[in-house]
Amino acid sequence: MTTADLRRSGLRRSAIAAAVRSGSIARVRRGTYAARGTCRAVREAAVHGGVLGCVSAARHLGLWTLAPEGETHVWLQADGHRFPHDGCRCVDHWDAAPSRGRLAAASVPRILRQIWLCRGVEEFFVAVESALHLGMLTPEGRAWLQRTCGDGAREALEAAGADSESGLESLLRWRLRGTGIALRAQVLIAGVGRVDFLLGDRLILEADGAEHHGSAPARHRDLLRDANAAAWGYVTLRFEDAMIVHDWDTVRAAIDGLVAAGIHLDHG
Ligand SMILES: [Zn+2]
Ligand SMILES: [Zn+2]
Repeated sequence: MTTADLRRSGLRRSAIAAAVRSGSIARVRRGTYAARGTCRAVREAAVHGGVLGCVSAARHLGLWTLAPEGETHVWLQADGHRFPHDGCRCVDHWDAAPSRGRLAAASVPRILRQIWLCRGVEEFFVAVESALHLGMLTPEGRAWLQRTCGDGAREALEAAGADSESGLESLLRWRLRGTGIALRAQVLIAGVGRVDFLLGDRLILEADGAEHHGSAPARHRDLLRDANAAAWGYVTLRFEDAMIVHDWDTVRAAIDGLVAAGIHLDHG
């Protein structure tokens, strides 16, 4: 909140000062205040001179993002001022928009466009699918993106749908597009249980999270699942989800090797 926002809501200067003393609001920097409980990222963007933008704004809204969490992407509008601060690792975004005030939050389409410009097409596609899945991107917003993002984003906007239930699923869909390999997520297989992904008819792709490592019971359960799957004619590829995101060449080579041998298709 700016001082003007607080004044508009009927608070006098003396009342603002009293609220700061009592701790119900905190002064972030000159003319800028945060309510108690404001998220760290929102506060940091305000310290830096703007509002959350790009992947940081997307994460704050609950959209999937692939970018590391360490840096805060800040939207400074076109005419803002940046205020470097202790530990500042902020990424500045200077795109212009009709101003609704210095601390007005970025709209979902604007956030997505910033991701397109800053992070590239893969992360854009993942964020767009996430926004569609959560009902946060309207047809008008999508049309605005078609108009303002240019040709490179068009394929992603046309391919995006609302069915993807995780960022990893969207990423796999994008990276496997054009291969002709059918991908389904969260498939229930008799005798095995629910698997993360099924490629074609018979190739299971499991993505293990970081919390998975080093747990003996979890490892035993996985080995049992893989054995059961094999008994039913399935082949399992198992990766850490970070490998799927960051070491795609290795993952893709493994998939291609099995697909080339026709392992993924049901010949029965
Ligand atoms: Zn950015
Ligand atoms: Zn900063």
